[in-house]
Amino acid sequence: MSEEEAYRTVSATLEQERIIPFKTDELEVVRSAEKCVNCGLCLNHCPVVRAVGVDRFSGPRSIAVELSRSPPDFWSTADKVYLCTSCGTCREVCPFNVNMPDIVNMVRARIFKQRPDLVPRGLRAVRETIAKYSLAFEPWEDPNEKTESRDARLQAAGLPFIKDRTVKGAEVLFYPGCQAEERAQEVKEAAKFILNYFGVDFTLLEEMSCCGLPSRLIGDDETSRSLAARLREKVNLLGVKKIVTTCAGCTSNLSDMSVRDNWGVPVYHLIEFLAEEIGLERLSEAFTEGSRAGEVLTTIHDPCHLIRHTSRQISDHVIAVLNLIPNVTVVPSGVADSCCGGGGMVGYHSRDVADAVVAYNLGPISATKANRLVAPCPLCTAQIERNLFNTGSDIQVDDLAVFIAQRLPQER
Ligand code: SF4
Ligand code: SF4
Repeated sequence: MSEEEAYRTVSATLEQERIIPFKTDELEVVRSAEKCVNCGLCLNHCPVVRAVGVDRFSGPRSIAVELSRSPPDFWSTADKVYLCTSCGTCREVCPFNVNMPDIVNMVRARIFKQRPDLVPRGLRAVRETIAKYSLAFEPWEDPNEKTESRDARLQAAGLPFIKDRTVKGAEVLFYPGCQAEERAQEVKEAAKFILNYFGVDFTLLEEMSCCGLPSRLIGDDETSRSLAARLREKVNLLGVKKIVTTCAGCTSNLSDMSVRDNWGVPVYHLIEFLAEEIGLERLSEAFTEGSRAGEVLTTIHDPCHLIRHTSRQISDHVIAVLNLIPNVTVVPSGVADSCCGGGGMVGYHSRDVADAVVAYNLGPISATKANRLVAPCPLCTAQIERNLFNTGSDIQVDDLAVFIAQRLPQER
């Protein structure tokens, strides 16, 4: 009997008593919570606690402590787990590696199954969108309007349109993610332009579908797993060898899925792909050949889903690539790795909390006197851009793919 079959048999036996047994990966998460010694280090580093105080969000320590009681009442933490941005800072500083982002996801999954009435309304609305469209954002009703919006964004960014293509047997699947597919379309186009420029043999999906991360964060594990399985099927059918994406959340989620379910296909963020597969030498040649943009003083934001959930090295890649571009000077803000509040789906039900988190970053960003901020993720870009704009700042915020594409020659 497989592990999955054994789980289903035990679940059926316990169903009448409304007991849901732990899966193997959930047991690991529970054991992680049990390692907490209540030292409070995580509390001092949590960006949500810093932003809204312990009265509104009592923080990672209290979640770990409540769950280490036996037996844990998962929904007793419902008022806390939805305010966690999944930034992973607490896991980074915890001396016992208590894995708070996974704990929060597991508790959200339990609440979703056992007490769906406690799931915030904003998250239930996203769930309905995903159930209907297999995308985290409602698609454009009129395809012509989507095209018009794309063209307007491309014109504003000064980038050309590269025709979409779906090719079986291509080397790379470029996966833009829901945000760049339906909203920040210039990011998708910028990445296509960059891949095309370097002669990468790439394909898109015939039809975009979500990677499953939003469903996982809502607690809807079943949908998350089925979306991941559907994507895997598409990847297998296309026969690609690598996946490249421009979204921090998609990068970390697809990397996890690929390892967990043995996809046998490595996942790269675009900046990793450029630094590791195209190489700094080729990039440097391309930038010096015909950089089209003037002088710019830029600062950086490092998305939590890249540096804490995937690899810190990605941050080094961003700096290394930006340093190759003529006329670009990078200035540190001191808060590049501080959560922007855009993660964990917090903004979908508690926008004030998400915005309070990023408020901490805005002063130091402005103090750099940079005229540009770049972030390798369209979600972080949108969150920082909106909040900087609201302070009256004239710093322009760009997704990294757009920033790079604008500095490559138009033609090869
Ligand atoms: S840092 Fe780790 S051990 Fe200390 S309170 Fe937080 S979760 Fe518990
Ligand atoms: S993951 Fe981030 S937001 Fe969530 S509890 Fe830990 S430090 Fe706070």
